[in-house]
Amino acid sequence: ALMITDECINCDVCEPECPNDAIYMGEFIYEITPSKCTECVGHFDEPQCVQICPVACIPVHPEHVESRETLLQKFMRLKSST
Ligand code: SF4
Ligand code: SF4
Repeated sequence: ALMITDECINCDVCEPECPNDAIYMGEFIYEITPSKCTECVGHFDEPQCVQICPVACIPVHPEHVESRETLLQKFMRLKSST
């Protein structure tokens, strides 16, 4: 899963781009729910939020480093739960 750092300028453009609704406005900045972020695996070739973020503040979450296989399994789980 990816995470949003405190360099976020709350520009609002990433939230509607997320295919998993993993991005939400937190207390101060936008945040990503790790359990819902597949790094866009299953939907797109590239993470959509990273593509669109003007300040490049969305790295991989150091506590949620996942393989493509794990991300694909998360995608399948999310798909079957909706
Ligand atoms: Fe959403 Fe994709 Fe960004 Fe994860 S990488 S938060 S799934 S847009
Ligand atoms: Fe923050 Fe980047 Fe999302 Fe804009 S696109 S709200 S700067 S994380």
